[in-house]
Amino acid sequence: MNRTIETYSPEETFSLGVQLGKEAAPGQVYSLTGDLGVGKTVFTAGVAKGLGIEDVVNSPTFTILQIYEGGRLPLYHFDVYRIGDVEEMEEIGYEDCFYGEGICLVEWADLIEELLPERYTRITIAKNPEKGFDYRKITVEDVLRKTERRR
Ligand code: ADP
Ligand code: MG
Repeated sequence: MNRTIETYSPEETFSLGVQLGKEAAPGQVYSLTGDLGVGKTVFTAGVAKGLGIEDVVNSPTFTILQIYEGGRLPLYHFDVYRIGDVEEMEEIGYEDCFYGEGICLVEWADLIEELLPERYTRITIAKNPEKGFDYRKITVEDVLRKTERRR
């Protein structure tokens, strides 16, 4: 189901993540698109909370994949901002995450778009300076990609 939500504070974006974390089904993959500092990690922290994960979620500079367990489902948090090439994804075993039983959230997913599964949910977060510093427009859309994946 496609929808657009507007938030006016980090807390609101976090809450939206919490809601998603409560509803998410095993194996769902979400891409997170939007400029640096737009709120992708804030949203992800909310998802972790919604899954019942207690750890602090952040975006470590040199870690592409962070795995959080101890919640209703495992959370695979990717931040591929600094990825050199897609082979790094193979090295960290992304397929076990994308096609596993947990929830995947991929910050900067555009950089590895060809690796995303056939079906995923694209979450786009955007600012709008005219609407204030803390305003964010969050778009959620289900994507069905045309892929020729060989396994
Ligand atoms: P990203 O992961 O996209 O680079 P972060 O989530 O790390 O961004 O940081 C987002 C920053 O924007 C935080 O400092 C947060 O407090 C701030 N912020 C202000 N308004 C909002 C909002 N409506 N939603 C999310 N974050 C917001
Ligand atoms: Mg981030």
